[in-house]
Amino acid sequence: MTTTRTADPTAEPGAPSTTTQASLYQQLRAHLAVLRLYDAAEHLPAVLDAAIAEGLSMTAALERLLAVEVDATEARRLAGRLRFACLPTPATLAEFDYDAAPGVDRALIDELATCRYLESATNILLIGPPGTGKTHLAIGLVRSAAEAGYRTYFTTAADLAARCHRAAIEGRWATTMRFYAGPTLLAIDELGYLALPAEAAAAIFQVVSQRYLKTSIVLTSNRGVGAWGEILGDTTVAAAMLDRLLHRSVVLNLDGDSYRLRAHQARNETLRKTTTGTRKPLS
Ligand code: ADP
Ligand code: MG
Repeated sequence: MTTTRTADPTAEPGAPSTTTQASLYQQLRAHLAVLRLYDAAEHLPAVLDAAIAEGLSMTAALERLLAVEVDATEARRLAGRLRFACLPTPATLAEFDYDAAPGVDRALIDELATCRYLESATNILLIGPPGTGKTHLAIGLVRSAAEAGYRTYFTTAADLAARCHRAAIEGRWATTMRFYAGPTLLAIDELGYLALPAEAAAAIFQVVSQRYLKTSIVLTSNRGVGAWGEILGDTTVAAAMLDRLLHRSVVLNLDGDSYRLRAHQARNETLRKTTTGTRKPLS
C-alpha cells in the first residue's frame, strides 16, 4: 500500500510538501527498493533534508545519495572477502611493533602493505623461530590484500595437506586444486611445525606449482629453507617447490626473542616487582 502525504507546514525541510511531491518521493523510494539500493532508500530523507538545508545542486544530492550506497556495498563486499579469507585472528600490519622485531624492515613491510607485489605474483617467505610475529605478519598481509579488493585465503600447511588428502580419497582433487588456485593471495602458515604425511609434499607442491608466476603465496616456517626437504620428506620435491617459490620472492628472516615470551617475561617482571615491593623482607 502506498500512502500519499499532503502538505504539512510543520514537516521536516526535506519531507515532501505536496501530494505530487509525496507520490514522487514514494515512487523514488520504490525505485530504490526495486534496484535493491536499500541503504540509499534508507538515507533518502536525510539526503533530501541536507540538499535543502545546504542548498545542494541536483548533481551533488544524487552523488551524496549514491555514495551512501557505494560505501555500504563496499563494506559488505569487504566483510565477505574477510569471511572467505578465514583469518584466525584480527591482527593487522598497523599493530605490528617494529621495536620488538629489530630484524624486520619497516619500509619493506610498508611497501608490501601497498599490495604491489601481488601484480607480479611475488611470493613472501617469513622464516624464523616461534613467537617472532610470522603469523601476525601473514595475517596482516592477507588483511591488507582483502582491504585492497583482492580475494585471499589463509590456511596452515597441515590443513591444506589434510584437505587435499580428503579430496583425493573423495574424488575431488581437481576441484580442491582449483580452490587453492583461486585467491590472488594464499597464505600457508606453519610449514615445519608438524611432521607432514607422505602425500602432503605432492599436494603442497601442486598448489605452489599451479600458482607459480600467476598468483602470490605468503608462507611461514620456523625452519630455514635448507630443512624443507626433511619437512616434506622428499628433497627433490622440496627443491622443485623452493625453485618456484623463490624465483620471484621476498624472504624475511625474523629472529630475536619470542614476542609471546617477552609478554610473559614482562608479566613476570611486573609480578616480581609488585610482590617484592609489598612483601616484608625475610629475616
Ligand atoms: P609466530 O607465528 O612467529 O610463532 P605470532 O605471529 O603468532 O608468532 O606471534 C605470537 C603473538 O605475539 C601474537 O599474538 C602476535 O600478534 C604477537 N606478536 C609477535 N610479534 C609481534 C610484534 N612485533 N608486534 C606486535 N605483536 C607481535
Ligand atoms: Mg605462527
